[in-house]
Amino acid sequence: MLYDIIRKLEEVEGYQFGRKLKRRSLDMKEALFYTVEDKGKVQCRLCNNHCHIKPGKRGICRVRENRDGKLYSLVY
Ligand code: SF4
Repeated sequence: MLYDIIRKLEEVEGYQFGRKLKRRSLDMKEALFYTVEDKGKVQCRLCNNHCHIKPGKRGICRVRENRDGKLYSLVY
């Protein structure tokens, strides 16, 4: 029951539950300076690390996150 509610919130509302509730992608600012790769991956080009980031993961700096194939900044 609780699992179904959480899954619905994640699917419909864009919430992600982990140790703490994360902000919705809709409220977040899409990052600049990145390119889209295959299988939902993106490559951030903001700094010289040029991180290849899989969906649901963050770059080395931990402030840029791939959500469903789009890169978001977590610090706006
Ligand atoms: S360290 Fe951060 S800003 Fe630099 S390329 Fe990686 S994700 Fe982008």
